[in-house]
Amino acid sequence: MKQGRNTGAARAASGKGAGAARDPNRLPCLSKPGVAATFQTWTPGHALEPGLHLVATPIGSLGDITLRALWVLRSVDRVLCEDTRVTARLLAHYGIVKPLDPYHDYNADRVRPAVLAALRRGETLALVSDAGTPLVSDPGYKLVREALAEGLPVTASPGASAALTGLILSGLPPDKFLFAGFLPPRSAARRKALAAWTELEATLVLYEGPSRLAASLADMAAVLGDRDAAIARELTKRHEEVRRGRLSALAAHYHETAPRGEVVVIVGPPEAIEPEAIDIDARLDALLRRLSLRDAVTALAEETGLSRRVLYDRALARRPKAP
Ligand code: SAM
Repeated sequence: MKQGRNTGAARAASGKGAGAARDPNRLPCLSKPGVAATFQTWTPGHALEPGLHLVATPIGSLGDITLRALWVLRSVDRVLCEDTRVTARLLAHYGIVKPLDPYHDYNADRVRPAVLAALRRGETLALVSDAGTPLVSDPGYKLVREALAEGLPVTASPGASAALTGLILSGLPPDKFLFAGFLPPRSAARRKALAAWTELEATLVLYEGPSRLAASLADMAAVLGDRDAAIARELTKRHEEVRRGRLSALAAHYHETAPRGEVVVIVGPPEAIEPEAIDIDARLDALLRRLSLRDAVTALAEETGLSRRVLYDRALARRPKAP
């Protein structure tokens, strides 16, 4: 049923009207100064168990947090977080007041023993990152590993992650994918990392900073071949955008116009070009007449998206024999 502005549901959602004020399941919260919003509380009917709770938080829109995550954050003794200012803003939005302890790349090794000791004492702790799912290109892995090694309880409250959100919006095959995190910042190391995945029959999902995006895409085109790809930018935010195209075209676009905000790069799997569809041997012969074997293979891999290894073997067999 279409709900008009004047229905009870609309009044309750806007925080106006007598129904909203009386509903014990709704807590008032302020999203912007002077703008009343409401959200539903949820409890599972039992107390939160002690241990380490990994809690996903929004990657943009503050609405992308689960009711269970809010219950966990409301119930824990304290929250470990990357940046206390960022987490304080999120908790304030939902009317939650908790002690916040920094746990980030620069202090994790130093504070981990105290966190483990707190878990041994039976404390109930949440770990969040600035945005999205903790541990996914964010701190927490060593803490989880060490807690598990001691048999301490660890559980998760799942939610937003830029990697999965980018993947499902990309229009590229989601059935098999490799999440590859951030590539190295330098081109040589980046190309080496990419070379490990040239044959992988899966979509690749990568995080990248806006300033390196164009160079990174150019390296991907050179090493993986000119595949279909997508750049998912500012996901869940007001200026969300997904730009789809060949890697080379995307590299050219972002070379001209550096993107604003955060991006996820999604690259399709190697394309199965039927060998009959293109006369590979003829193309190789033409390229080998003017290029080295290595350069000919690289050029044809970029042109066709075919495997470098297959092309290399084929090119070796066709290289003119010395008289
Ligand atoms: N743990 C986070 C998660 O689960 O998505 C990722 C943290 S990682 C330090 C930050 C990177 O995630 C950014 O550089 C960007 O590649 C990606 N990212 C985070 N939020 C994003 C958003 N709203 N839109 C696009 N990419 C985002």
